[in-house]
Amino acid sequence: MREVTIEIKSLDGWPIAAGTYYECLACGTIIEPFQGKVWRCMCENLDFDYGAARFVVKVPSKLRLFRYSDGPEEEDGPSR
Ligand SMILES: [Zn+2]
Repeated sequence: MREVTIEIKSLDGWPIAAGTYYECLACGTIIEPFQGKVWRCMCENLDFDYGAARFVVKVPSKLRLFRYSDGPEEEDGPSR
């Protein structure tokens, strides 16, 4: 499987969805929501609290969203 980076379009309406991973580029922690209730990276840049519907990112430029794909390499290209 390979990682497919997801573009972050806005700080509102984060695409929190099963299968989406959140990587803190500051400390390297990778978080997958829905595997627990509270997620926080080691440097506390990312702070998710599912019960409180809270999703705080202190430094958005240090966040990368991605998902895993087992599709072919040319998935992002034109379909054939
Ligand atoms: Zn961090």
